[in-house]
Amino acid sequence: MTRPNRPQMQYPFSDDLEYASPEMVAEGVYRCRIPLEFGPPYINSWLLEEEDGWTVVDTGMGTEVSSNAWRKVFKNFLGDKPVNRLIATHMHPDHLGLAGWICHKWNIPLHMSQTEYLMARTLIADTHHDVPDEATTFIHAAGYTGEQEDMYRAEFGKFGSVIRTLPHAFHRLKDGDRLTIGGVDWNVVIGRGHSPEHVCLHCPEKNLFIAGDQLLPEISSNISVWPTEPEANPLKDWLESCAKLKDYLPEDVLVLPAHGNPFRGARERLAYLIADHEENLAKLLELCQTPVRVPDCFVTLFKRELPDDKINLATGETIAHLNYLIHDGSIIRETDDKGVNHYRRAE
Ligand SMILES: [Zn+2]
Repeated sequence: MTRPNRPQMQYPFSDDLEYASPEMVAEGVYRCRIPLEFGPPYINSWLLEEEDGWTVVDTGMGTEVSSNAWRKVFKNFLGDKPVNRLIATHMHPDHLGLAGWICHKWNIPLHMSQTEYLMARTLIADTHHDVPDEATTFIHAAGYTGEQEDMYRAEFGKFGSVIRTLPHAFHRLKDGDRLTIGGVDWNVVIGRGHSPEHVCLHCPEKNLFIAGDQLLPEISSNISVWPTEPEANPLKDWLESCAKLKDYLPEDVLVLPAHGNPFRGARERLAYLIADHEENLAKLLELCQTPVRVPDCFVTLFKRELPDDKINLATGETIAHLNYLIHDGSIIRETDDKGVNHYRRAE
């Protein structure tokens, strides 16, 4: 397989941007770095200026570190205009964590896709509940050691603890919707795989694409199978979304990602991401010549042994690749008498 070279992307803006100090990336469009307490160091929120107010896209986590940054933005940056619309690209806590707080503070509607909203509400309702049998079966089948299972139990159900109470109503965004913000049209483009119905916003007139986590410049977005849907095939959704965006986006569009710097070179980056996953699938298929369990795939996929605190995401991501190969008929899965899954090449 020929693999494209690392994509050549252009970064027109400096990486040197203070937290909570919005910087203009195009007329009426500002990037605002909001610090995060864990995971990536910050998220890029976007502030879109309108005649009578501001639209905010993505929020940071429901923690003091992120909310204090917003207090500073509200006090120093907005001028005499209120925030009048909030858009969350998807349900992950670094994007949605302060949505309820901001909507309540400004008395404004939350805009997001239906699946993301409902999924977030469900996961938040599960917070602080015991680990269900389905989740225990899932991690056991994935080959967790007893110690790793204990760690999983201790960590389980924290999703909602970094998301402030969500509004009990929302405004639905759908693929193909057109929003007029600041006098120009922004098209809703849905991506899948990283999360189920991820909203991206494309403004043809300004040649901008607010990408959320659907297209990132440096890291590849996490594509995982979770215990709620063990047979899911999110990698197929992801690869289809990458192909769709590669066709759809203009070569010179300025991508505004949730993590990392704004960049040009979307199509090259997407081609690289597709090729990278395809290479990983080919390597896994090779590995499955002899039966393997999920942890046996880590070194092949991640090129190193993983510490226990990385196991959950790595497991989800590995199963995403394995499920892809099951769905396309290349491998089969067998469960041994201890309940652990083994994967091997189909005859
Ligand atoms: Zn995300």
